[in-house]
Amino acid sequence: MIFRQMFDRDSSTYTYLIAQRESGEAILVDPVITQVPQYLQLLNELGLGLVIAIDTHIHADHVTGLGALRDETLCAVVMGEHTKADCVNYKVREGEQLKAGDISMEVIYTPGHTDDSYSFLLGNRGLTGDTLLIRGTGRTDFQNGDPAAQYNSLFNKLLKLPGDTLVYPAHDYNGMTVSTIGEERQHNPRLQVGSEQEYVDLMNGLDLEDPKLMDIAVPSNLACGLVP
Ligand code: FE
Repeated sequence: MIFRQMFDRDSSTYTYLIAQRESGEAILVDPVITQVPQYLQLLNELGLGLVIAIDTHIHADHVTGLGALRDETLCAVVMGEHTKADCVNYKVREGEQLKAGDISMEVIYTPGHTDDSYSFLLGNRGLTGDTLLIRGTGRTDFQNGDPAAQYNSLFNKLLKLPGDTLVYPAHDYNGMTVSTIGEERQHNPRLQVGSEQEYVDLMNGLDLEDPKLMDIAVPSNLACGLVP
């Protein structure tokens, strides 16, 4: 299997290319519109055909590449069933296996950062979106964010995965690329809380500025990154 982590410097976003060398079928997770030419070049160089492009949630900090990729490759655009985007071809739900050729990813509904946040489990790799970051968690103060829901997604779903499950987040702002569930359980400062209420108070006290691109990115991303 091919598994590649790509980085968009402007938004500190990680995009993942997952593909089967034999069948040539590929999935892109959380593509960024400005990087689409690079993804297309890499797919071409590796002899891969893009079958599915998926976002873990509606992003507020960058414009998604979903629509541009569909225009270029005729791939299916997929998001979770709670998405408000009206441009997706197929919506996945909790417990479902998202498949492309021999690639199979388990869909886990992990709301909290937004109400449409999903994570994907590919073998021992967890693509945790903005729900679980490395030594952090996604903010919960806009787009129907809900710290209590995020506590449940973290403590009753993601942190129950085996400790050696690899954590591949949608962003990192500190240069980290991968972690494990066990490492995050132990060292992630947001996860050292004794109760749901303690987590809610922690998240509600963050007082963060809105992302610079939010007013552009959210409406655009509801249309898969094309002009709304
Ligand atoms: Fe996000």
